Amino acid sequence: MLSEEELRERWGRLVEELSAEGVVKSAAVRDALLNVPRYLFVEERYRGYAHVDEPLPIPAGQTISAPHMVAIMLELAELEPGMNVLEVGTGSGWNAALISELVKGDVYTIERIPELVRFARGNLRRAGCGDRVHVLLGDGTKGFPPRAPYDRIIVTAGAPRIPDPLIEQLKPGGKLLIPVGSYHLWQDLYVITKTGSGKVRKRRWGGVAFVPLIGEHGWEG
Ligand code: SAM
Repeated sequence: MLSEEELRERWGRLVEELSAEGVVKSAAVRDALLNVPRYLFVEERYRGYAHVDEPLPIPAGQTISAPHMVAIMLELAELEPGMNVLEVGTGSGWNAALISELVKGDVYTIERIPELVRFARGNLRRAGCGDRVHVLLGDGTKGFPPRAPYDRIIVTAGAPRIPDPLIEQLKPGGKLLIPVGSYHLWQDLYVITKTGSGKVRKRRWGGVAFVPLIGEHGWEG
């Protein structure tokens, strides 16, 4: 078993590689990744693989995304301190913890599987951000109206189409990041901006591979 020091060193090396490759572009995302290491958000038996740039299994047959994918989405989101952000698809809680680090405050994140809500809460507590990252159980395709409108909504599961409630819950000038495409594996990542007049502008970033977004405005479970 690797020591905490070895885990941290391997993680630091991966962050440096992602920076050298230009995947991590900003100092803010680099610092957030270094401050919130991925090995704190996987089960004990996967800790030694947390620095490998691939998705890893988490409970309930779901995945923690590959570090490069998480970094790409965080860079595209252009998060700033004070922003009001909703994440859909908590999984391990890692991405939500990174978002909290970047906005320097509270984040709301929704997960549909109760076992993962418990898993994420435990990880977040151990990582020291349990008080800033609020994990909700529910169908994130409906958003979370009590905290709307949002500056950013970040969806980390693949949708068949863009859920209307997520557009409705964006602020004018706000952005929604969402993979849209087929049920398993291939989707296109979209960055959707709500303009001042309430219209939406869609930008297709490129191909991605996420587990399905299941819910009222997503795939059938
Ligand atoms: N962001 C996560 C992390 O940092 O570990 C990885 C997310 S994993 C790729 C996608 C997650 O979305 C799964 O945990 C899945 O259960 C969840 N999910 C799927 N449909 C959902 C929905 N309608 N509402 C909330 N969560 C959903």
